[in-house]
Amino acid sequence: MIPYGRQDITDADIDAVVAVLRSDWLTQGPMVPRFEAAVAGYTGAGHAVAVNSATSALHIACLALDLGPGDLLWTSPVTFVASANCALYCGADVDFVDIDPRSYNMSPVALEAKLQAAEQAGRLPKIVVPVHLCGQSCDMAAIRALADRYGFRIIEDASHAIGGRYRDAPVGDCRYSDITVFSFHPVKIITTAEGGMALSNDAELAARMEMLRSHGITRDAARMSRPPDGPWYYEQQALGLNYRLTDLQAALGLSQVHRLDDYVARRHALAARYDALLAGLPVTRPWQHPDSYSGLHLYVIRIEGGGDGERRRSVFEGLRTRGIGVNVHYIPVHLQPYYRALGFAPGDFPNAEAYYAEAISLPMYPTLSESEQDQVVAALREALAG
Ligand SMILES: *Cc1c(COP(=O)(O)O)cnc(C)c1O
Repeated sequence: MIPYGRQDITDADIDAVVAVLRSDWLTQGPMVPRFEAAVAGYTGAGHAVAVNSATSALHIACLALDLGPGDLLWTSPVTFVASANCALYCGADVDFVDIDPRSYNMSPVALEAKLQAAEQAGRLPKIVVPVHLCGQSCDMAAIRALADRYGFRIIEDASHAIGGRYRDAPVGDCRYSDITVFSFHPVKIITTAEGGMALSNDAELAARMEMLRSHGITRDAARMSRPPDGPWYYEQQALGLNYRLTDLQAALGLSQVHRLDDYVARRHALAARYDALLAGLPVTRPWQHPDSYSGLHLYVIRIEGGGDGERRRSVFEGLRTRGIGVNVHYIPVHLQPYYRALGFAPGDFPNAEAYYAEAISLPMYPTLSESEQDQVVAALREALAG
């Protein structure tokens, strides 16, 4: 089976992890700040806080921005459930903004219309989480302008987008947002097995996230509420969690960061090849916004036929039968049983639902060979032919 995504682990990666195993530190130690500095340096963000998953990063990002009961967070319905769940962890409520039918990202037009209605109703969101689907940045300038007008904070869910660029600057520089989150799950662009990171240009937000990832405890004398009892002294100042990344994982991440640009370039070469090979087939290829250089985590095609998704389902099954490990990203979050129980229903976000009825993610990862890619396209031709 050719999978839809796969990590690349080199001998250098293995050596880096083994060196940590032979060292004095296994959990968060000297490798974590080195990995943080590498990602901050790459993106240009002022501060980076490594944690054990992007889900954890989203959670502490929401906590650092004081999201709590009575507050509202908005995100895209076309995302992994974690982009929405982070609000519920904080006791806040979630709502969604429908997608743009071309980019599949949160539509700034839909966002503006929803903000106008929310202002009338006196229930504006505290946080908006744009998700850079497939690695392509959302229209961050437009979303930033709306944040300035309506007073919400922005957390970019860039789980798909490390290595990508928006208006010629790296995704993650937080120029348009309060916090940006990356995921290092093995199917993502670089990996630490499990892992994530929250970036920010706000030193205070970064310090709060650092504290929250480790029980809400600080050992920083400058942050103490009273003079230390002695050199052992530490203070718990908030209800934090244990979301620390291990040094083993940080060493793997640091080793992988060096290949980030090569990985994204390879993904672009594969995407260009797919674009050419799929021309003329009855599928919609991904559209790339001219302002964006995508991280290309995913290559999503749409199987024309729409409706109830029966056509997509038969093509999907035809591909799986032929050994192609395709996937679907994503079932709209508001259609999950957990979210339906909160009051969401089919029809709430029509563009997201129309996308879902047609989407298939084709295999896309740096070690995918051209002959494997040819196999994918041949299988797709057959599956389309029925
Ligand atoms: C993978 C992913 C997450 C969660 O990442 P983990 O590191 O697995 O917690 C969140 N949001 C999006 C959009 C993702 O793709």
